[in-house]
Amino acid sequence: MLTVISCPECGVPAEITDRFSLTSTDGPVDCVALSCVAGHHFRMPSDLLPMDSQDQLQAREPVPARPSSAR
Ligand SMILES: [Zn+2]
Repeated sequence: MLTVISCPECGVPAEITDRFSLTSTDGPVDCVALSCVAGHHFRMPSDLLPMDSQDQLQAREPVPARPSSAR
């Protein structure tokens, strides 16, 4: 699935090309590789992305069904 976020460097659309985990002393860190249309390439922990970009990544994850108060 294609995910496009804003480039953290220049703000143009950037495509997530890879997601992977790096093992750190604190445990696995979720990382992303992205390349923007201006030619920037980044590999960085996903939690360093801007919050709205993180939201877009989270949106790809299956969302557990929330108990609804409406019956
Ligand atoms: Zn860029």
